[in-house]
Amino acid sequence: MRQMIMGNWKMHGLRGSGERLAREIAKGADPACVSRDLVIAPPFTLLSSLAPLLSPHGIGLAAQDCHEDPDGAHTGDIAAPMLADLGVSHVILGHSERRQNHHESSALICRKVEAAQKSGLIPVLCVGETEADKAADRVEDVLGRQIEESLPRGFSGIVAYEPVWAIGTGQAATEQDISDRMAFLHAAIARHLETDDKATRILYGGSVKPEDAASILAVPGVGGVLVGGASLTAESFLGIARAGLKPAY
Ligand code: PEP
Repeated sequence: MRQMIMGNWKMHGLRGSGERLAREIAKGADPACVSRDLVIAPPFTLLSSLAPLLSPHGIGLAAQDCHEDPDGAHTGDIAAPMLADLGVSHVILGHSERRQNHHESSALICRKVEAAQKSGLIPVLCVGETEADKAADRVEDVLGRQIEESLPRGFSGIVAYEPVWAIGTGQAATEQDISDRMAFLHAAIARHLETDDKATRILYGGSVKPEDAASILAVPGVGGVLVGGASLTAESFLGIARAGLKPAY
């Protein structure tokens, strides 16, 4: 399975700067980079202008959220069919910033995942423990519950393991921790979905930088990385996309 390098721009980028960054990434996305699946998740406002810049280069386009209903009286929300209509391929759901800032529950996220799948989008479901969970030694309980409650039966998407304490802190999880969590999550997902335990791709996210990307991508069970801060320049995003690939590739 090809590894995925996904950039989450969060709430960054106006038309000028966002289109410039997308063009730089597309221009630099040589065969080495696109031998991995590259996907960019800009803010909603940039989706339609970035679609024609990225798709000729084989770079996927993701949204950072969607509503659970296909349409309706939901002021300010964006439905999954609207995203599909713009050429969006993936949607990040259940990011810890939405779980925290918008009080999204796993039950709601599960409905969003179903809505995304119904519209032909690939959901990228985020799970991860907080610093307090880690200190209280309840990481596996928390991750296990998030998997059971956020993943609908028939899930066919991607999971991103993002320890909350590692997001935006500059402090990535250790390779040993990532390896242990990947083994736990692969088994938990397989049990929940009654599939084989490598059927679902799992990304790692949390302070990934070009200099540590190769070692993180080499951890058994890691199907790619979800990158926040380091996806905001072409040099660092493409550095991560190339990390660990053979020069002749
Ligand atoms: C994220 O928010 O998904 C993320 C991984 O952020 P960062 O890389 O900045 O830690």
